[in-house]
Amino acid sequence: MRYQNDEVSAAAAALKKLFDRAEDKRSVLRAPELAALYDRLKVLPAGKARAEFGKEVNALKSELDQMVREHSSASVVRKPIDVTAPFDVNAPEPKLLPLSSGSKHPLMKELDNILEIFGRMGFTAIESRQLDDDYHMFSSLNFPKDHPARDDYDTFVTNEGLIAPAHTSTMQNRVLKAGKSGLEKGEGIRVIIPGRVFRNEDLDARHEHTFYQLEGVYVDKGIHAGHLIATLQAFLEEYYGQALEVKTQPFYFPFTEPSFEFALSCPFCQKKGCQVCSYSGWIELLGCGMIHPNVLREAGIDPDVYTGFAWGGGIDRLTMMKYGIEDVRYFHSGNLTFLRQFS
Ligand SMILES: [Zn+2]
Repeated sequence: MRYQNDEVSAAAAALKKLFDRAEDKRSVLRAPELAALYDRLKVLPAGKARAEFGKEVNALKSELDQMVREHSSASVVRKPIDVTAPFDVNAPEPKLLPLSSGSKHPLMKELDNILEIFGRMGFTAIESRQLDDDYHMFSSLNFPKDHPARDDYDTFVTNEGLIAPAHTSTMQNRVLKAGKSGLEKGEGIRVIIPGRVFRNEDLDARHEHTFYQLEGVYVDKGIHAGHLIATLQAFLEEYYGQALEVKTQPFYFPFTEPSFEFALSCPFCQKKGCQVCSYSGWIELLGCGMIHPNVLREAGIDPDVYTGFAWGGGIDRLTMMKYGIEDVRYFHSGNLTFLRQFS
């Protein structure tokens, strides 16, 4: 396109040169040569000359827009690459890429350790789901519809209404239903449920939107809170390799009754007080309780015949305490310097 006005014509030539050289073709639209034309337009006195100048500047701008659009829609032909080749196939002399092997994530290492201990205690493991529904997240767990207790489990929901579970208890109803026929043959339900869970959190060193939980479910005839405490104490003493004191205090969960907060004597300072236990000598570790009769009933298990307990705790927290990790966000950061400390 030819421009009548000398100023516009000179700017057009400069801008086209710039366009040819520029790696980012859009930069031509932000070039000072173009801005200068608009600045000039602003100070021209109103009249025919200004109108014509304005028309040409706009025409130049449209031409440049068009050039940028055409360039970005043109397909760029690149050489194919073989992503499975251990060398750069396009290099003139292909050399093997430097290799380094990965290692198990610290959370998964810890989980293996936990599963092994519970395995020896007779528990089988079932992984929870990373997408679930309202029934398994709430209704089957005795959360009435619109009950404020649901607010403690603020998580992510897909457009289709599926829920990213805020706890591994979403598996309880399934585990209880699956174990029902065994119960009637005298086989208790002993299941642990590790899984990835999600919360809508304000992130900081202690709060992450994604973390791992370990749920436990135990149902049989004559099970009471003493069994719950003994089971968790046996696990923790094995896990920390030392005798520990434990204590419970009343709490509220819709799916257990009674519900407890479970604390252990600090295994890092033997109750003398340290950073991990905030100098209290005790660590509040998890929530637990006797499975609510409504939850058993919902799975078709008669709560007058069978009773059971359940607990849920964070695997991230256990791992952080064990290795003195100060910030939970390291786990999902993909930071190799952090991860390689555990390889
Ligand atoms: Zn301590």
